[in-house]
Amino acid sequence: MPRPIHATIHTAALRHNLARARQAAPDAQVWAVVKANAYGHGIERVFEGLRAADGFALLDLAEAERVRALGWRGPILLLEGVFEARDLELCSRLGLWHTVHCDEQIDMLALHKTHVPHRVFLKMNSGMNRLGYRPERYRAAWARLNALPQVDEISFMTHFGNADGPLGIAEPMARFAQATQDLPGERSLCNSAATLRHAQDAGVRADWIRPGISLYGSSPDFPEHSAVDWGLQAAMTLQAQVIAVQQLQAGDSVGYGASFVADQPMRVGVVACGYADGYPRICPTGTPVLVDGQRSRTLGRVSMDMLAVDLSDLPDAGFGSTATLWGLSSQGACLPIDDVAQAAGTVAYELMCALAQRVPVVAD
Ligand SMILES: *Cc1c(COP(=O)(O)O)cnc(C)c1O
Repeated sequence: MPRPIHATIHTAALRHNLARARQAAPDAQVWAVVKANAYGHGIERVFEGLRAADGFALLDLAEAERVRALGWRGPILLLEGVFEARDLELCSRLGLWHTVHCDEQIDMLALHKTHVPHRVFLKMNSGMNRLGYRPERYRAAWARLNALPQVDEISFMTHFGNADGPLGIAEPMARFAQATQDLPGERSLCNSAATLRHAQDAGVRADWIRPGISLYGSSPDFPEHSAVDWGLQAAMTLQAQVIAVQQLQAGDSVGYGASFVADQPMRVGVVACGYADGYPRICPTGTPVLVDGQRSRTLGRVSMDMLAVDLSDLPDAGFGSTATLWGLSSQGACLPIDDVAQAAGTVAYELMCALAQRVPVVAD
């Protein structure tokens, strides 16, 4: 028997969360962002739930090939554009749309031989200083692209670094609006946070939104808003079984480093999930966990293959009980992945993406 651990991808939740993004920006087309193997969920496993999207956005060319291999004939956008000249051949062959964020990419395009002109998204650096042209150089880049026979339609794109917080998007939005004023073409601005928090703001024209994390059921601005606040449903559940029970006396410790010491007699369940499965080692004693649908807590250090949970208040739980590390228990209770990420001092993005290869995954 394989180790009793598995993850479940919830197709209906993906569908629901996609609809939720549309509701937040009713006039926009939706790129379902499926980079990083659909945030760890698996491109092939999320495809059914997200196929009502208008396009798929990602950045790995091999992932673009996988989306085409699923039979997707619609738009696919490379969020970082091409990395070398021969990537353009794949763009021509698979009909990929690509981001253009620097002169080197325009140079490659100018030398590219193709019968099919490319649809490109010209990216502005509106203040995040990762990818894109600064506002004052944006029009010149547009003019150069616009003169290339290799280029078909040009759309305009930027990415906000503070859409989830108090700084918001006003400043970068103003820079973008000014630099793109009167330029003809579609606009793509909003990730999940910007879509949910700002897509309805005056002056935000969002022809194409780019939600990622919200599709997978995590709140982009947790803890200010929870997934429930935004009407999002968990798309991933991670569950493992209790494979041993220990009875502790006061003074007994649990796990490596004896970081948890019992101050009274207690029952401890040992769960077949550890950091080699993608569960963060850094999660401290007290990280929430569901055991047979009831909220409990982890105890002591997370090991490579196991972690310990408190069964003291759960007399019916024991060997074979199911621990839900995040997501939905079979009893219907939900442990938001955002709560676990918070205990780990990180964001749900990182937990989802870190789900280990060795964990079997099923889609429901
Ligand atoms: C990852 C990414 C997104 C999606 O961001 P979320 O915060 O997951 O919604 C959108 N746009 C770009 C350019 C990205 O790289």
